[in-house]
Amino acid sequence: MLIDSFDREVEYLRVSVTQRCNFRCQYCMPEKPFEWTPKENLLSYEEMFSFIKIAIDNGIKKIRITGGEPLVRENLDQFIKMINTYKSDIDLALTTNGYLLKSQVEKLKKAGLNRINISIDSLEKETFWYLTKKNVLQNVLDGIDAAVDAGMIVKLNSVILKDINENEVMSLYEFAKNRGIQIRFIEYMENESAYSNLKTMQSKEILEIISGQQLIQELVAKENSAAKLYVDNSGYTFGIIEPYDDSFCKTCNRIRLSAEGDLIPCLYYEDSQSIKGKTSSKDDMEHILKEVIKNKPEKNRWSHNSTETVNNENISSRAFYFTGG
Ligand code: SAM
Ligand code: SF4
Repeated sequence: MLIDSFDREVEYLRVSVTQRCNFRCQYCMPEKPFEWTPKENLLSYEEMFSFIKIAIDNGIKKIRITGGEPLVRENLDQFIKMINTYKSDIDLALTTNGYLLKSQVEKLKKAGLNRINISIDSLEKETFWYLTKKNVLQNVLDGIDAAVDAGMIVKLNSVILKDINENEVMSLYEFAKNRGIQIRFIEYMENESAYSNLKTMQSKEILEIISGQQLIQELVAKENSAAKLYVDNSGYTFGIIEPYDDSFCKTCNRIRLSAEGDLIPCLYYEDSQSIKGKTSSKDDMEHILKEVIKNKPEKNRWSHNSTETVNNENISSRAFYFTGG
């Protein structure tokens, strides 16, 4: 079991397999980075897998593959198979923008994946293009249908921004509800890489929109769930992820491994330790894992009121496409 200094059990590892992405989401990677990390500086699947085995042996029960866009890294299905073969009852999931999903979903399923979160922020062609700079809404919609048809447990993630897609809260909600899949609205988290004029829609504003149309009730929080869950009077459950809320950190059970090999205890702070070059030593990796968990901060300092934002040199300058979100 991995317990941090604030008595939280850490059992969830997010693994970013690439920083690269085929979208340019305005809140994540509005511009292509000046240069990508050279391939030789990234962990190979074998190196990641060496660490994952140690993590599982020490108590990690859930692994999410993320990125950048994980489906742009070749042979992802083989990596999934490696993990699944090592521990078939691991809770293994993937987060993707959905663009390449239709062509890959069958082999991902065959490799042992059965849970996918797909990010979609707009159902309108123009807005979708404005947010992602890619004119591929239909491919993402096809990816969602293909995942559902393949029998995957699918969830949708939508970042809601003021004046951009706030008018789509109900259409995204109905879209997910009609397909019997859960949607989670995510509050935009400010970060240095994002396009600077974006304004978050706060959870209470999103809830106001939904409760104007539906009778909703908050569900008792599932332990360690990043999302607060709500149910409407037809029994449909949706979620809101609010990193600005204290409860987000109180039950935080996760650490992140970047594609370069940085093990990151908190999205908000710069601290990390690298496993690059250490993956042949079980002892070194175990030591780093335990140190990172021991040093996991109590909470992030995101604030809706930017004047309250703390002036702290240790605040992370990493992009979300680097940490995997
Ligand atoms: N490319 C994949 C995707 O978009 O689903 C996986 C990586 S992406 C970094 C993971 C999640 O982080 C996505 O759901 C995305 O919407 C979310 N995300 C990225 N930047 C964000 C930000 N600034 N605030 C809130 N969520 C963000
Ligand atoms: Fe790419 Fe995902 Fe970031 Fe969008 S949110 S730019 S799809 S990594």
